[in-house]
Amino acid sequence: MIAYIEPYFLDNDAEASAVAGKSSDGVSESLNLQGTIVCGGDAADIAGKDFGGMNFVKPLAVVRPVGPADIAGAVKAALRSDKLTVAARGNGHSINGQAMAKGGLVVDMSSTAENHFEVGFLSGDGGGTAFVDVSGGALWENVLKRCVSEYGLAPRSWTDYLGLTVGGTLSNAGVSGQAFRYGPQTSNVTELDVVTGNGDVVTCSEVENSELFFSVLGGLGQFGIITRARVLLQPAPDMVRWIRVVYTEFDEFTRDAEWLVSQKDESVDYVEGFVFVNGDDPVNGWPTVPVHPDHDFDPTRLPQSSGSVLYCLELGLHYRNSDSNSTVDKRVERLIGRLGFEDGLRFEIDLPYVDFLLRVKRAEDIAKVNGTWETPHPWLNLFVSKRDIADFDRTVFKELVKNGVGGPMLVYPLLRSRWDDRTSVVIPEGDVFYIVALLRFVPRCTKASSVERMVIQNQEIVQWCVKNGIDYKLYLPHYKSQEEWIRHFGNRWSRFVDRKTMFDPVAILSPGQKIFNRSP
Ligand code: FAD
Repeated sequence: MIAYIEPYFLDNDAEASAVAGKSSDGVSESLNLQGTIVCGGDAADIAGKDFGGMNFVKPLAVVRPVGPADIAGAVKAALRSDKLTVAARGNGHSINGQAMAKGGLVVDMSSTAENHFEVGFLSGDGGGTAFVDVSGGALWENVLKRCVSEYGLAPRSWTDYLGLTVGGTLSNAGVSGQAFRYGPQTSNVTELDVVTGNGDVVTCSEVENSELFFSVLGGLGQFGIITRARVLLQPAPDMVRWIRVVYTEFDEFTRDAEWLVSQKDESVDYVEGFVFVNGDDPVNGWPTVPVHPDHDFDPTRLPQSSGSVLYCLELGLHYRNSDSNSTVDKRVERLIGRLGFEDGLRFEIDLPYVDFLLRVKRAEDIAKVNGTWETPHPWLNLFVSKRDIADFDRTVFKELVKNGVGGPMLVYPLLRSRWDDRTSVVIPEGDVFYIVALLRFVPRCTKASSVERMVIQNQEIVQWCVKNGIDYKLYLPHYKSQEEWIRHFGNRWSRFVDRKTMFDPVAILSPGQKIFNRSP
């Protein structure tokens, strides 16, 4: 393989192609790939940038595998070379180049998206629990649509946006408003097929090759490439009552959010929250709260004492078409009636379950029209312990980002007990912690220096956390030096290194994470 693609190591694409003297088809044939390979400038067009839009890196080639054998072939070819690396690319929705491979091979997982789709039932639990086997390269939105339309079933734990791949989110955690109950997506898979950094194709689970299973979950692509995942399912509800209620005081917002996520018996099915600007700014303020275009936010309902930012608790309650309106209303009131939000600042609609889960698709369509889907996204995602979230609110929400970030500022609680600490994900120490997501959208024609200032502000927030001893971890972490990675993993660093030694000893995989350097 290397003999054929080595010419592309040359910096100049034209020169490289000339030296190779072969079409990509020819190269792929010579490589014995069942799939295809794209080289030179076309490869950079496919895999040289990501959703973050702040990193541009030229890969050597993009491999479009047919299945695990092609992926193993690419890894083994890299092993035989003295500098090639391999990055799986899910849907390239990383922010900081995590799915890139400078001068390396990028495995475009979309070519494998349709390889698996099979629903079954777990043996050993009375046969009751359904699962679906899906490809690592499958988009969650397609998993959702097929599971619901063909089987009336659905995965239990989601991300907000579903244009992400199964392998991409499982390599991080996969968090949304269901995670308080079911844990992140990494807590909702029971078996994986993985191509390791040794080029082995391995099936793993809690009981079979368990070290690999737990390494890969939340493993930032460092230990293997997920080609199949067995995802737990539940009966899909028909409808969701989607509710937003507004708070002026952070402590009341957090008290109610924590109460909802800690209910053992009956609670809502989805809990999220966000901070917004107390003003009429269409992107950052009151207009972002109503869930239906016909609803208006009435600011006269706010007390005089309200501050520069406000808080919105977002809830979802599942029900079936056969449930009567009054039954649903009663369930809602039983839960909502106990909450201390501002009177008159409650918004709600009923919508089909699939539409609810695809709600961010509408935001994507709007952002595509106004150009902010393509502009840079200097996002910051953190987990902050309950112990420190009030301090975080005082300094970050109420001061540093009090004018908004041009997009959602999410904050909602999660329970440590739902996360499996055998996986590679690291979270804060506390039993309850908050996910904080500053999802910055940048208008077209924004100067590079303004984007740079946003990145600097993200760094300042992280620095503030470090200086003040905040119990926090970056989610979708991004660091440039190994020292920072060591601090990130804390007492889990040695386990992470041991796992790397076991499953990717030469450090071939996911070089864009910048955790390890490939050894010759
Ligand atoms: P990529 O960006 O392509 O890859 C991410 C990393 O995983 C890379 O290191 C890559 O090498 C590795 N990788 C990719 N595929 C595989 C595989 N099959 N096997 C092993 N490693 C692999 N996250 C949440 O948790 N909750 C959210 O609600 C949420 N919403 C988002 C909304 C938007 C609009 C965006 C852009 C991101 C959001 N994310 C969210 C973050 C998202 O989960 C991660 O960025 C995820 O990695 C993106 O998936 P992807 O398929 O694009 O992965």
